[in-house]
Amino acid sequence: RPTSTDTPMLWFDGELASADSLQAPLTTHAMHYGTGVFEGIRSYATRNGAAVFRLPEHLQRMRKGAELLGLDFDVERAFEATLETLRANDHRDAYIRPLAWFGTGSIGLDVSHLSQHFMVATMAQRVHLAGDRTRLTVSPWRRNPASALPPLKLCGGYVNSILAKREAKSRGFDEALFVDDDGNVVECTGANVFMVRNGQVTAVEHRDALPGITRDTLIKLSGAESRTVTHHELLDADEVFVCGTAAETAPISVLDRREFGDNPVTRELSALYARVVRGEEPAHAGWLTAV
Ligand code: PMP
Repeated sequence: RPTSTDTPMLWFDGELASADSLQAPLTTHAMHYGTGVFEGIRSYATRNGAAVFRLPEHLQRMRKGAELLGLDFDVERAFEATLETLRANDHRDAYIRPLAWFGTGSIGLDVSHLSQHFMVATMAQRVHLAGDRTRLTVSPWRRNPASALPPLKLCGGYVNSILAKREAKSRGFDEALFVDDDGNVVECTGANVFMVRNGQVTAVEHRDALPGITRDTLIKLSGAESRTVTHHELLDADEVFVCGTAAETAPISVLDRREFGDNPVTRELSALYARVVRGEEPAHAGWLTAV
């Protein structure tokens, strides 16, 4: 059985291999132009062994991105590859990163004759306890508009997130909030946004935001409404939190000069989410795929 100090095994183009033995050419198209699509998925240790949270939904979203780019993508094979990689590394609490991308054949912008590749990496990850509170700031950057780059997990699109993250960090914040020209909240660099006001939970809805699977989960768990939310409303909320596969639920302590106090609704929802992903809520066991 592998241990944490072993070189991890990766899935690459149809088989498992040691990460040490794998390389991509420097003329890889995706490296030059961001022509790839990825996912961020998580598995959790449950009473019945490791289980992946909402794996089919993640792979369906990845398929949409692949189709848009013209990458062949077989959801069933990606599903099996994900489970195989987790098993090979004996990972339970893990972050899972599948990536499909264009390789070599041309350095032009026509992707129709390029090689195509698919990998899955899994990384052991402790369960995040939503304890650390996030300091958020409105970004001077705009989100990629959906009309220019659809909100799917296309590699190149993440340069937009990285610019916003860098800028927020340079001013001492943890995370950036994208707001549009009309003052409506879009999302964060890798997470969706919720607010709580007078006990009402609201999921921020915006056409330029990634339709998050954690967001969908929390709407279903809380009965939250989903609608357009302005930056002003967010400043006026009792609680704000962000959510995503990696972030899970992260309470916001500060949004620029606004400080948020106690966050009982967020804490309750975080605890429920933590039980759901670990298979402790039988009603939602259908969201888990046993490894
Ligand atoms: N928005 C962006 C830009 C993201 O990268 C992510 C992480 N995938 C999310 C939102 C949250 O999506 P999910 O809950 O599906 O992980």
